[in-house]
Amino acid sequence: MAERTLRGARLGGQSFEDERGIEFAARQQVGYRCTHGHDFEITMSVEADVPAVWECPRCGAEGLSTSGIERVEKAEKPVRTHWDMLLERRSEKELEDILKERLDLLRGGEIGPAHLHRPTKKRSRTTV
Ligand SMILES: [Zn+2]
Repeated sequence: MAERTLRGARLGGQSFEDERGIEFAARQQVGYRCTHGHDFEITMSVEADVPAVWECPRCGAEGLSTSGIERVEKAEKPVRTHWDMLLERRSEKELEDILKERLDLLRGGEIGPAHLHRPTKKRSRTTV
């Protein structure tokens, strides 16, 4: 069996590794310079979102892009709070109305913790 498998293959005659048909992703060299003056290049896909900073392979310091890629400050994208998201859906007036409605129900024993439910109310078990 092994003999048969080897029969057609001449040693050193041809490589079984064939790069035909393989498409290499397009690459680019991105330059950086660290705070100690070390220049280095990182190979990246042209499709990569090139970062503005890269750790220097020689000293570990932060290397800044030498190809003009600006560091994006986090302050440019303010964090949306729960309150911001709420205001995108309801106006403050609406929220006040909802709050008042819920407070009335709470004070009337309709909603809230079970021990606050008024037993005399017909719909005291109503949950929301
Ligand atoms: Zn360095």
